[in-house]
Amino acid sequence: MNYDPHSMHAEAFINDEEIQETLAYADKNKENDELIGEILEKARKRKGLSHRDASVLLSCTIPERNEEIYALAEQIKKDFYGNRIVLFAPLYLSNYCVNGCVYCPYHAKNKHICRKKLTQEEIRKEVIALQDMGHKRLALETGEDPVNNPIEYVLESIKTIYSIKHKNGAIRRVNVNIAATTVENYRKLKAAGIGTYILFQETYHKKSYEQLHPTGPKHNYDYHTEAMDRAMEGGIDDVGCGVLFGLERYRYEFAGLLMHAEHLEAVHGVGPHTISVPRVKHADDIDPSAFDNGIDDDTFAKIVACIRIAVPYTGMIISTRENQKCRERVLKLGISQISGGSRTSVGGYAEPEEEENSEQFDVADTRTLDEVVHWLMDLGYIPSFCTACYREGRTGDRFMSLCKSGQIQNCCHPNALMTLKEYLMDYAQPDTRRVGEALIQRELENIPKETVRNIARERLAAIEHGDRDFRF
Ligand code: SAM
Repeated sequence: MNYDPHSMHAEAFINDEEIQETLAYADKNKENDELIGEILEKARKRKGLSHRDASVLLSCTIPERNEEIYALAEQIKKDFYGNRIVLFAPLYLSNYCVNGCVYCPYHAKNKHICRKKLTQEEIRKEVIALQDMGHKRLALETGEDPVNNPIEYVLESIKTIYSIKHKNGAIRRVNVNIAATTVENYRKLKAAGIGTYILFQETYHKKSYEQLHPTGPKHNYDYHTEAMDRAMEGGIDDVGCGVLFGLERYRYEFAGLLMHAEHLEAVHGVGPHTISVPRVKHADDIDPSAFDNGIDDDTFAKIVACIRIAVPYTGMIISTRENQKCRERVLKLGISQISGGSRTSVGGYAEPEEEENSEQFDVADTRTLDEVVHWLMDLGYIPSFCTACYREGRTGDRFMSLCKSGQIQNCCHPNALMTLKEYLMDYAQPDTRRVGEALIQRELENIPKETVRNIARERLAAIEHGDRDFRF
């Protein structure tokens, strides 16, 4: 099959031959200073890069050019996302799973992991615990199991989550990371009010994919790879892509990921709302060193920088799989969303002490959400709990066109400050609050338009006096 980003067939839009040629081209040109200079010139226009051009940057071995790549990634990050970092937490509903993914401890043959599925009452407790930490945005996670975790269970759980109003808390955006499913089910998820539908490709390499997913419905590469098209057909216009780094050669994955983004743009007019960059981690019966393609922190940072340059508008997510030091480095280079205070076990928020071995992977950043918020502010970032775009219907191409025009700054910046204000008043430790209030005062001055600045000032004062009727 030939490479065709407009095709609806996985093997045409993620075309192995095209990836192999791209890798050979990138390797041949990794020291081609003139070509790399031209690609960087193109990248400075902030319209993104093709998978070929971006692959050359990823392979580049000229130290001065690599410095330029990092500096450009940092600048693009600032231009599109300012200094805001959006916070979220994963919520594991069930670890029942019928698949055989060899890197995941939820695989069906694992008989000693504790299998759990939350009841609606248990979900309530988890959500209250998450609200008490200050979270407003969740990513729902489940294993794939049509009997234990049917779509009806996921839909009922979403309804429960949105219905819980505890003190000043509320979960305002539920993103969903569940296995590839049908157009009809995506339609139901859309109707339930989900934010982003997230699905990691794990690997774009078909043969490796089939070996890494030897059994269960996830074995079907085409069905999995074409899931985002079905999600979009079902009306979900914010989709989140990602690969699990460590399974295949990272250059292959990088090219595949960008081709997937090109395909979504070509067919649906909207690229991925987010791109995640997880790396395989130790978990119950999983040893990451068993996979040959692990990447070091320097390579990881380069990947983040090159994705940021190649897809400037996309949100980029890093989870607590990574430690504080690694997170700090890549925040600068392109990450716009991070999780904080995460538990990867089923029921781990309400009853952390009783945590049985139901985790999906070991968490490397074990700090509380408040510590993460404090740390972000010390680094000069604005921790944001904003969900306004989604709540105001700015999703899909409406979000993308605003983001691409750089306009999003005028509403995101003040909204971030207001949601931070809510957090500081309701949940922060005294020192976090002190640092945060000072930051808000400083950052108010950075709102470019005077009218917007004045409205923000008024709203911050209203929040201070207990008014919580704003829609963020
Ligand atoms: N079951 C759904 C699916 O198949 O897409 C939901 C995904 S699972 C709960 C979330 C993600 O965790 C997976 O897509 C995978 O990339 C990642 N994951 C699995 N095992 C992991 C491990 N050992 N280390 C790091 N991430 C892992």
